[in-house]
Amino acid sequence: MSDLAKLFSTIARIATVFSVSSVCALLLSASTAIAGSKSFEGMIEVTVDDREFEGRPLAWDEEVVHLLGRDGRFLSFDPKKVKEFRQTGQQFRPYSTSKIRSMLLRELGSGFEVTGTSHYMVAHRKGQRDKWAERFEDLYRSFVRYFSVRGFKLEEPSFPLIAVVCRNQNEFMRLTAEQGVPVGRGILGFYSLKSNRITLFDRGENGSMSHGWQTTGSTIIHEATHQLAFNTGINSRYSPPPLWVAEGLATLFEAPGVYDSSAYRSRDDRINRVRFTDFKKIPRTKNGELPIALVASDGLFHSRPDISYAESWAMTFYLVETQPRRFMKYLKKTVGHRPFTKCASKQRIKDFTSVFGTDWRMFDAQFMRYMNELE
Ligand SMILES: [Zn+2]
Repeated sequence: MSDLAKLFSTIARIATVFSVSSVCALLLSASTAIAGSKSFEGMIEVTVDDREFEGRPLAWDEEVVHLLGRDGRFLSFDPKKVKEFRQTGQQFRPYSTSKIRSMLLRELGSGFEVTGTSHYMVAHRKGQRDKWAERFEDLYRSFVRYFSVRGFKLEEPSFPLIAVVCRNQNEFMRLTAEQGVPVGRGILGFYSLKSNRITLFDRGENGSMSHGWQTTGSTIIHEATHQLAFNTGINSRYSPPPLWVAEGLATLFEAPGVYDSSAYRSRDDRINRVRFTDFKKIPRTKNGELPIALVASDGLFHSRPDISYAESWAMTFYLVETQPRRFMKYLKKTVGHRPFTKCASKQRIKDFTSVFGTDWRMFDAQFMRYMNELE
């Protein structure tokens, strides 16, 4: 028995597979993981295929080990391929920002430089003044303010929030494919749960950040919101929430009154017009079938993404506008589950009904009354 096997055998195992998916980046970066029933607080260093990884084991079994790297990435490898292994610390310690910066530059090559702000590290074309880092930092402040005034205390991110601005679309498509996330030409950016990074590409002057978020479309804000939610305790990367919650929040922030509430103050500004238009086209019954379907399962996102995104936005908007404290209480339930275990449908429903009640018909009636009064 190898040392690694000895280490793992000291910790009880369960093997539960979970998957995360959606039509935006969360779908494209869908992955499965296997659960360890206990956590391992220390750090290990392993050599696999002549590459060294260091981090905290999050989940493992005989076939795969998932490690939280010291730079914030999830790394997965076959434990049978481990050549060397040693424990390097009793506690997990993320790398310093200067170390992450040098790793990022080595990975991307000499054509890049990195601009840092309080929370972000943005890799971009060398010699070009970065337009993104401050914008992301503005979004960070809006995000914190938005949740603070609604009674939700956010955590400071454990790692720098990394964004890679590719120099052109071809580079973007190559980098995303290398991460196992091949994207089509219509995709402008994505957040990966696995790398914890946003990847996007420079669209030249017309699509640049010099004119603010509105010229880049809502995609980048959507992806940046996922990154913020998964790094500040709103959502958990180890036990991702129901998709309607993750996508509801990301679509909520696509509206100017949410991502920039100090400049756009009315409720009208907080309405996501694109999603609202889609929402009004959804045929409905009176028994709350749609909210139940999204709360119980992510299945509708695969079969009817158009309906799922619009309904998720509308439910999130309704709950945040009318009962923010309850909604925050519900969010806390969704992050509180055991890491790397699949949250069963029954549990998902219980999380919801324990906060919003069990009368789905009434929930749907009140929800629809509110939405029908919007213009
Ligand atoms: Zn999304």
